[in-house]
Amino acid sequence: MEATPTVRKTFAHGIHPPDFKEETRSKPIRRFPFAPVMIVPLSQHIGKPAKPVVAEGQEVERGQLIAEPDGFVSVAMHAPASGIIRKIGLAPHQSGRMVESIFLQPFPASGQQVDPGTPCEVETASPKEIITAIQHAGIVGLGGAAFPTHVKLSIPEDKSIDTLIINGVECEPYLTTDHRVMLEQTGDIFTGIRYVFKATGAKRAIIGIEANKPDAALKLRRSIPGDMPVSVELVKVKYPQGAEKMLITALLGREVPSGGLPADVHVVVINVATAAEIGRLLPRGRGIIERVITITGPAISKKGNYLIPIGTPLRYALDQAGLHEDVSEVVLGGPMMGQAVSSLDIPITKGTSGIVAFTSAETNHRPEKIYPCIHCAYCVDACPLFLNPSRLGILAKQGEYERMAAEYHLMDCFECGSCSWVCPSNIPLVQYFRIAKGIIREKKAQS
Ligand code: SF4
Ligand code: SF4
Repeated sequence: MEATPTVRKTFAHGIHPPDFKEETRSKPIRRFPFAPVMIVPLSQHIGKPAKPVVAEGQEVERGQLIAEPDGFVSVAMHAPASGIIRKIGLAPHQSGRMVESIFLQPFPASGQQVDPGTPCEVETASPKEIITAIQHAGIVGLGGAAFPTHVKLSIPEDKSIDTLIINGVECEPYLTTDHRVMLEQTGDIFTGIRYVFKATGAKRAIIGIEANKPDAALKLRRSIPGDMPVSVELVKVKYPQGAEKMLITALLGREVPSGGLPADVHVVVINVATAAEIGRLLPRGRGIIERVITITGPAISKKGNYLIPIGTPLRYALDQAGLHEDVSEVVLGGPMMGQAVSSLDIPITKGTSGIVAFTSAETNHRPEKIYPCIHCAYCVDACPLFLNPSRLGILAKQGEYERMAAEYHLMDCFECGSCSWVCPSNIPLVQYFRIAKGIIREKKAQS
């Protein structure tokens, strides 16, 4: 591994948590076996669940469409394996709810090849056709947000895009998924960028990478096709450098307005793994059926980066990766913005970028007691959006949710957790904000 170069490009505030990436960053992507039963939730993305187009008892081929988009903010689902649809019904989901899902039992003796579909050719397809193809390939943001990519790329008529940012920052501790994708799926990333150029009208692309991945930056720089206006830029190692607004500021010096979108400053941002998926699937007319996931943490013996079929039960994935008996917490995503799961019976979905398992040795060290705010302002200095988490925390405890939103811009908070991480009083600020935002959204929906 090369030394981390000195890089200045960044945003104001933020934090420096230890990255814990050394155990997986040099582990090449390995394919996972098929679980005995896969559970494909119809809701794996932000928006409306997909509509099943298969019936119980039906045999399906790997890659076959099994659910179609139900409206614009919705994407398709494809069979992760050749097999038989055993059931369409409720199954546990990482949200904690039971969600309508397709239960698929793979055929053990099948070759599991994927038949080619109708390609979407970048040279001949119109921007609209590319956006439709992305929706029907079931592509969502693979960085963890699971926002339908075709919606993000549908730029309103009154906006124009000059720059496409490809997000290869991966600032969450432990995760090395994007790092491996940049090293191993380099060609797919550039093909994906060609599609996104055409879909959005962007004139150039910048691939933003945290300076702790110089090998990925070098590989990408050496692979830029001669006819493509693409540059690779290193940004400072700092959390949450990978947040869209922070990356835009670091690379372009542009500030997305409060409540606004990157398109307001002529930018669209997509994750590097999402770009690779577009580049791999659209020329073959296929849909997304698997994704790269880092499985790591002190409670895992075979830490690594795995290509895992969508719908694989979490318990099966952890068994394959060697889960220790003294596991005490499993987090989906990274430890900063990820979510601790309450059940191992939930399936892996398109938004699962990492699985981090901790033993009681780590979780027992966490301080349990919450102390009063000592007004040290560490949280204020950490917040990348210049919010006042201390004040927001006090208002949350008083139940003053409307004031949090109206006077202190609560809804701008993207729950990065930096404020909680630095708080010496152990106040769970980000949890307070999550709850407050949920209550405000619920009230709005009811009014
Ligand atoms: S969780 Fe919200 S308030 Fe806290 S630092 Fe991040 S953006 Fe700021
Ligand atoms: S970091 Fe914690 S103790 Fe310090 S001001 Fe913020 S909320 Fe208060």
